Amino acid sequence: MQARHDQIGKTLQDPIIMNFSQAVDQFLLDYPDISATQFGTRFRKDPNFVSELKKGRSPRLATVEQVLMAMDDYRREHPRQPASLPSHPKEPLHLKEQPGADMDIRKSAKLKNVCYDIRGPVLKEATAMEEMGHRIIKLNIGNPAPFGFEAPQEILADVITNLPSAIGYCDSKGLFAARKAIVQYYQQKRLFVDVGDIYIGNGVSELIVMAMQALLDDGDEMLIPSPDYPLWTAAVTLSGGTPVHYLCDEEAGWFPDIADMERKITSKTRGIVIINPNNPTGAVYSKELLEQVVRLARKHNLILFADEIYDKILYDEARHTSIATLAPDLLCLTFNGLSKAYRVAGFRSGWLMVSGNKKAAKDYIEGLDMLASMRLCANVPAQHAIQTALGGYQSINDLILPGGRLHEQRNLAWDMLTAIPGVSCVKPDGALYLFPRLDPKIYPIQDDQEFILEFLQAEKVLLVQGTGFNWAQPDHFRVVFLPGRDELAEAITRLARFLDGYRHRYA
Ligand code: PLP
Repeated sequence: MQARHDQIGKTLQDPIIMNFSQAVDQFLLDYPDISATQFGTRFRKDPNFVSELKKGRSPRLATVEQVLMAMDDYRREHPRQPASLPSHPKEPLHLKEQPGADMDIRKSAKLKNVCYDIRGPVLKEATAMEEMGHRIIKLNIGNPAPFGFEAPQEILADVITNLPSAIGYCDSKGLFAARKAIVQYYQQKRLFVDVGDIYIGNGVSELIVMAMQALLDDGDEMLIPSPDYPLWTAAVTLSGGTPVHYLCDEEAGWFPDIADMERKITSKTRGIVIINPNNPTGAVYSKELLEQVVRLARKHNLILFADEIYDKILYDEARHTSIATLAPDLLCLTFNGLSKAYRVAGFRSGWLMVSGNKKAAKDYIEGLDMLASMRLCANVPAQHAIQTALGGYQSINDLILPGGRLHEQRNLAWDMLTAIPGVSCVKPDGALYLFPRLDPKIYPIQDDQEFILEFLQAEKVLLVQGTGFNWAQPDHFRVVFLPGRDELAEAITRLARFLDGYRHRYA
């Protein structure tokens, strides 16, 4: 905390800081409902920000600017409050003397409700802490490479070999050989599509956004799981659609609640998103459950969107079923890629497979083709990884079987987390995450982002709050179990210590 307020050649006598301090005072006068602590938490993620300022510790200029802008935003959004003084001090802010300093360049209204907290404000704080020299254990992103998961050498070798022929654009849907390999991958699942039904993208992420942009008109609704991988909700919102969350039931091993799903279908619903194996819960859905979803989609003429990026990351007895195999009569878009199972997330190599009732979707498919063409093509070198990855030895199996790193780390993390009083967790059958619950009677958390921020500041471990996954209650968080045993154990030990303190504070 101390470090953030480091003096950098500025003192309270500095007119910028004096003006800033006055602006903060004025703001607190104008908004008496906001205490100094709340001000710090809201605008700087630091409850002590105002008191430190008053003690004479000067924030950095960049911080001053950020806080001023945030205050301005707040005033704009809460215009009923009298703004007797502008929050930007008038004189003599050197910042204002810069050309263009008065301009206020705003993001588009389209982004207003778009939210992706996995890389949100808490990560910003973690980055700021790292800049101050703190070492943070980051359990926030499912990115295998930084945790020592090596990509198969053969994939790297083939990408390098093909580099000289990967310099130009390729077909907007991707290289033929790579798409053929994807077709053959689905043939093994008894799903028969053509090369033309495959779109290669810069990761599944790009294709999710593309699929939503091509489909949705303003007000169209999309059924999305809660909790979800938040890109789905963000992509629907960005496309003008309305995300409607169906409940995944923790009591039922996080399986979707079919009755809830059906209740939420309206005349505007266009499709159902199924994330299987699931991020963040780790649930792997049974064939019976998927058949129920298919029946619902059939009954209401809905499109199925299946995010199956973890289909090869399964533990114990879990078996994965691609929902498209159960719905040959329905339009189904299945998403997958190399980021996780082949540990090459940085390659940005993913694909989308269209199956089922393509005749009815001629126009939508034209839209997908158009968007694929507009971005010319996906990263070509990484497409050379696909054929090699999908054929031959599947080294991911060594990681998920007993004795394998992922299997053992999942067990370690689950054992340690569930040993903490008031923490429960459905054991994940797939993927790379745990989604534990904090018993609200023991941990009366009001704002889980605040909670995760406090934990970060106290223990230097970065997690993501459950509400970041569109889970409505502030009682869950997500843990990535990619770090090796020692680091993982250290992170969870720190969490146990923090929760112990929390229990004592709120007992
Ligand atoms: N879908 C899910 C469920 C994910 O968890 C992720 C990444 O964490 C993605 C898609 C993004 O994958 P890609 O790296 O292919 O963009």
